[in-house]
Amino acid sequence: MLQKFTKGFKTHLYWAKIRVKGEKMQIAIYPGSFDPITNGHLDVLKNGADIFDKVIIAVANNSQKNGFLTIDERIELIKASVSEMRLNNVEVDSFDGLTIDYAKQKGAQVLLRGLRAVSDFEYEMQLSQTNSALCEDIKTIFMITKPEYNFISSSTVKEILDNNGDISKFVPKKVNQYLLNRAKN
Ligand code: ADP
Repeated sequence: MLQKFTKGFKTHLYWAKIRVKGEKMQIAIYPGSFDPITNGHLDVLKNGADIFDKVIIAVANNSQKNGFLTIDERIELIKASVSEMRLNNVEVDSFDGLTIDYAKQKGAQVLLRGLRAVSDFEYEMQLSQTNSALCEDIKTIFMITKPEYNFISSSTVKEILDNNGDISKFVPKKVNQYLLNRAKN
C-alpha cells in the first residue's frame, strides 16, 4: 500500500522535498545543435534528468553552422523522443545568442555537456572555460555515455543516411522514421 502511494505521488514528494528545504531548484541547460538528436544525446539528457530538478534541452540557433534540419524540425524530434522516454522534468527550447546569457535568463546553475572521445576534450574545455570567465556562477558538468552510445554523432548519422545506410541503432525511433520519410521525398 505504502509502495503504491509513494509510486503514485513520487513526483509530488520530490518537489515537496525541495520546497520544504527551501533550496533553489537545480536547473541545467543542455545546449547543442542536435541536428539531429541521437541516442548519445538522449543518454546524456537522461543522466542529467536523473540528477537535476529540471533540464532544459536547448537547440542553439547558430547562424554560423549550416543546418541539415530546421530548428523547428529539431525541436519537434527532440520533443517526440523526450515524450517517448517519459522524462517529465525535461523542457525543450531553442535560443539565439550566447548560451551563458540564455542560462542566466532561465535561472540555471549548470550547463550540461557530453564528452565522447579525447578529441571532444579540447573544444569542450575551451568552451567551458570561456563560459566560466563570462559567468563563474554557472558551472559546466560533463557526462560520459554508455560505451554503446559513445561513438555516435549527428554528423555520422547524416553521412550514413546520405549513403542509404541503416541509422536505426543510432537515433530514437521517431527520428529514424522522420529521416527515412524525409529522404524519400
Ligand atoms: P554542438 O554543436 O554544440 O557540439 P551537438 O549536438 O553536436 O552540439 O552536441 C551537443 C553536446 O552533446 C556536446 O557536448 C557533445 O559533445 C555531446 N554529445 C553528442 N553526442 C554524444 C555522445 N554520443 N556521447 C556523449 N556526448 C555526446
